[in-house]
Amino acid sequence: MSNPPNQSVHSYEVSTNANKEIEHYRVRLEILKSIAMHLTSSMSVQEVIERTLDLIQKYFPLIRVCYSTIDRDGLSVIVYSTEQPGLPPLTGFQIDYRQVPDYLLALQNKQSVITNDVRQSVLLAPLVESMLATGTIASLDVPLKHSEELIGLLCFDAATPHNWDAHEEATLTDVAEYLTVAIRLSNEEHERKQAELALRESETRFRQIADNTADLFWLFDIQADRMIYLSPAFETIWGRSREEAYQDYRLFWQAIHEEERTQIQVHLRQNDLEKEARVEHRIVRPDGTIRWVRMRMFPVPNPTGEIYRFAAIVQDITDYKHVEAAEREQHIFTEALSQTGEFLTSTLDVEEVFARILLGMEKVAPAADLANIWLVQHGLADIVRARAYTEAGNSWYVPQRALQVREFRDLVEVVRTRKASAIPDTDAFDGWVVFPGNEMIKSFVVAPICLDGEVVGLLSLSSATAGTFQPIHAERLETFASQASTAIRNARLYAEITQHAQELEQRVAERTLELRLLNDKLQVVLDSAGEGICYSEKGKIQYTNRAFTALVGYSESEVKTSPIPLLELVSRSDAEAKAFRETLESSLSNGNMTWRGSARLRRKDGTEFDAGITISYVSGPDGKTTGAVALIRDISEELSLQAQKDRFIANASHELRTPLTNIKLRLYLLGKQPERFPDHIRVIENVTESMRNLVEDLLDVSRFDRGIITLDRQIIVLQELILDVVSILSSESEHKSIILTATLPDEPIMASVDIRRIRQVLTNLIMNGIHYTASGGSVTVTLEQHEKDNQPCALIKVHDTGIGIASETVARIFEPFFRASESGATGTGLGLTISREIVELHGGTITVESEHGKGSTFNVCFPLAVSSEQ
Ligand code: ADP
Repeated sequence: MSNPPNQSVHSYEVSTNANKEIEHYRVRLEILKSIAMHLTSSMSVQEVIERTLDLIQKYFPLIRVCYSTIDRDGLSVIVYSTEQPGLPPLTGFQIDYRQVPDYLLALQNKQSVITNDVRQSVLLAPLVESMLATGTIASLDVPLKHSEELIGLLCFDAATPHNWDAHEEATLTDVAEYLTVAIRLSNEEHERKQAELALRESETRFRQIADNTADLFWLFDIQADRMIYLSPAFETIWGRSREEAYQDYRLFWQAIHEEERTQIQVHLRQNDLEKEARVEHRIVRPDGTIRWVRMRMFPVPNPTGEIYRFAAIVQDITDYKHVEAAEREQHIFTEALSQTGEFLTSTLDVEEVFARILLGMEKVAPAADLANIWLVQHGLADIVRARAYTEAGNSWYVPQRALQVREFRDLVEVVRTRKASAIPDTDAFDGWVVFPGNEMIKSFVVAPICLDGEVVGLLSLSSATAGTFQPIHAERLETFASQASTAIRNARLYAEITQHAQELEQRVAERTLELRLLNDKLQVVLDSAGEGICYSEKGKIQYTNRAFTALVGYSESEVKTSPIPLLELVSRSDAEAKAFRETLESSLSNGNMTWRGSARLRRKDGTEFDAGITISYVSGPDGKTTGAVALIRDISEELSLQAQKDRFIANASHELRTPLTNIKLRLYLLGKQPERFPDHIRVIENVTESMRNLVEDLLDVSRFDRGIITLDRQIIVLQELILDVVSILSSESEHKSIILTATLPDEPIMASVDIRRIRQVLTNLIMNGIHYTASGGSVTVTLEQHEKDNQPCALIKVHDTGIGIASETVARIFEPFFRASESGATGTGLGLTISREIVELHGGTITVESEHGKGSTFNVCFPLAVSSEQ
């Protein structure tokens, strides 16, 4: 633009230069003054830049002036460019200086970059193409810095190579500095305005929100010690006017529920005041109603950081609390219900069921004071169980008499519809009947207990607080009551069954006792029976009496456990046993229920006996034979007696027939030999005499048998009786040449005896001795006093030296009509039989010792008369 200095025109040049300098200063001042002027006006920084650039353009007409912003990365946008003929305006043009890092770095280091010809610039080589495209050949770039940060560029562009002079550079640098200030001021102003605007907006918003939302905002000034702001929600939540609270903020605090107020105070004391506090608390309104709020309180610092205010947002959460409480209640109830179901039905005891119902009812509405179980019968409702959950409930009066359902509208409805009903506020329910004792009930809920479609009872909950029970509680109580009904039904059924079972048990016990008594009696009767009795079923003996076991020798358990059919006891041949069984079976098949017969049986020890058997069949209700009773008795003795009797009759007949034949013969001979009359008559007399004796003996035996003999006792000296008998029989012995002697003690032995009968015994024994002893032998009678069983007794021995008795027959000689065959003597065979009867009747015994061929000794022993008896 300017030529290099020329020495020849130096002074001129100096003055010209000086003028130029002055002119340059003036230009620069002009420009800067304009900027300053613009800045004080209300012009925006953009306008200031545009005006300034346009002004510069004026002073440098060949140059294009641009202002561009640049970000930290080096991306630049030309904000404003002057319009210069020959150079296109560049407003909005973007340049990426990252391509020329050294260039960028120089700018960031506050250095202006001067390029006289871009085509020769190394620094700008990467950008040369785009620069040329904008018509730029030479450029002068000056950085604009704000707080050490490169924020923009001020550029001079020339369309031809250009040597930038100091004036140009200085102008641009000065302008850049001024603009920097302008921009900074403008930014600050802008920010301030923005802040103000934002504040205003936020204040408006705050007001709008505060005035229009249900939440309460308050501001408390510590220094002024008063509320400086309360939003309108205060009035709805606190139930007081804002004016009141502004005047006396204590009203505000006092409304906070006592419990939480203390809590908040403690919280404020304990916590760092600089922290935000969150607390949920209740507000007690002047009308006594309660609101729940959630408060977020935070300290507000002033610009110096000192806390000078407290602000809070208070949200009314009463409804939320209610919902939450209701949800919690519902949750508790649902959970409780599932448990109670099990809990209630896990017992069958009615009392326990009632107790559990009362326990479970609390879960239906935890705020209840009292629970009742009612019994409904014949239109009367009677409280059968009650449980108080609170002190209040405890003191309540429970009506002693049943209530008439029809007098209570709510109960009538419950019974009619079988639906639960809730009376939230009894004062507001015109069907509520107040009677002494129920005045305290302010809220009531009742549900029916239905069994088989009938209302048999009621469950009710009472509360002293109005509003405690709502329709939801009626629903719950109804659900609960239906569970309770099931439990009650089960328990009732169980009770009925139990009672029935107890009655049955009682009856069984009574009957068992009766049967046992009967059985005992029967047992006594059966055991006292002499006959063996056994009862058998299905081939097994079920019962035996004592006589039976004694008879067969098997124990009762042996009889019962081992299969011992009675018939196996039969000791007969197989054929006989078979015949016996067939008789039995045919008897049964012929419809005979009783069979009588006899059999010979074998005992456990192998011995046998003759048994008389009676078998009676026992049939069940259907007529079928179920068992048999057998009666067995030992008939061995009977049989032998019978045999003895038979023998006796045969013998007696025989004994009588012989003399009769004899008499008959003599009578015949008497006809033929009248001359021998005396002989025949004598024989007849003898025979008649022996027949008389025989008959006498037979009568005696018969009398003894029938037990009709009585003794005519007298006390005698036995020696005298013996001597008397011996003396009478001495002629008999002498006749047979047998020595008959009596050896008697001197001391008289006294006895109370029937003299005639003892004489008969002695006579018989001595006569037998004479009879069964051959001539030359002897018969000796001795008498001694003896001791038998500690009792004094007389022992009379009749000893002979005769034929004796064979050992096999010795046992039988006392049987009636028994006579040893070899003895030739004549006798009836009844003597010893009668003798034994007489001695035994005297309480004594008669025995024999004998040796065949050597003689016999008969010992008669009987008790002596005791002296006191004499
Ligand atoms: P009898 O009238 O036959 O003597 P008893 O009853 O007195 O009848 O005696 C029964 C039987 O006992 C006699 O027939 C006899 O065989 C036997 N007997 C009785 N006494 C004696 C005796 N002293 N010596 C031997 N045998 C005797």
